[in-house]
Amino acid sequence: MRTKADKQADNQGEHYVLNGEKTFISGAGSTDVLLVMARTGGAGPKGVSAFVVDADSAGIEYGKNEHKMGWKAQPTRTISFKDVKVPADNLIGEEGQGFSIAMKGLDGGRINIGICAVGTAQSALEAATNYVQERSQFGSPIASLQSVQFKLADMLTQAIASRQMLYLAADKVDNNDGQASTYCAMAKRLSTDLCFAVANEALQLHGGYGYLNEYPLERHVRDLRVHQILEGTNEIMRVIVSRQLLQDDALSKLR
Ligand SMILES: Cc1cc2nc3c(=O)[nH]c(=O)nc-3n(C[C@H](O)[C@H](O)[C@H](O)COP(=O)(O)OP(=O)(O)OC[C@H]3O[C@@H](n4cnc5c(N)ncnc54)[C@H](O)[C@@H]3O)c2cc1C
Repeated sequence: MRTKADKQADNQGEHYVLNGEKTFISGAGSTDVLLVMARTGGAGPKGVSAFVVDADSAGIEYGKNEHKMGWKAQPTRTISFKDVKVPADNLIGEEGQGFSIAMKGLDGGRINIGICAVGTAQSALEAATNYVQERSQFGSPIASLQSVQFKLADMLTQAIASRQMLYLAADKVDNNDGQASTYCAMAKRLSTDLCFAVANEALQLHGGYGYLNEYPLERHVRDLRVHQILEGTNEIMRVIVSRQLLQDDALSKLR
């Protein structure tokens, strides 16, 4: 992270001056404020601070709205900061606390992404359940095929398991459990992988129509794909979980 915040003073008092660039910022250009992590100290997490910044401040520039595979309801842009003056009072907490503030935000953010995935999987499953009862091939509805029934059973099981895992992680966050971040990482990884598979299977059950944008399935699959990437990739979720698991006595704490 290279965006810097330098503390300075003038006749109006103390302020910070931000310089740097952020890529892949969801909602950028459509918000009133920005929450910006910037370096006030040296390399490493302790050099990071968090600021609330007026989104219209002089020196802020927004890049083009990126063309994405899905998630088209909200813009994704680069934001650059050139000598952006931020009042000293806009620092959140103390200097150097930015990384831990970001990490706390990410726990809730990961639950949020997982729950978006569950909602989309539920919608895809509902569409597939209706479709297989309407669509007839070889003289009977495809819902009468046991292979189709088994697929639906697995899809429902995966969606419910994802939701329960997210509720468990949310409960850990609510109770300030020391293992909350590990549970959020497990829940985000599991729910986004399983729910993507559910939507993809729902598309398959629609046959050729699943591939047409007249039906919602292709959009569900495109929208769900990014959940395996953002708010930390699912590989990074595995890094978090395995690091915790390999620590001394971690298994007893994970119960
Ligand atoms: C639509 C969209 C919206 C976004 N919104 C925001 C936003 O609002 N704010 C924000 O800050 N970011 C946002 N992001 C950025 C997103 O969080 C990152 O793209 C994501 O965390 C991955 O980082 P990266 O792109 O640098 O991939 P990289 O880190 O370059 O990863 C490339 C590949 O290498 C793998 N990899 C990397 N390191 C390891 C490792 N240690 N072990 C195993 N595998 C590894 C990754 O899992 C991945 O498969 C957004 C991204 C997208 C696509």
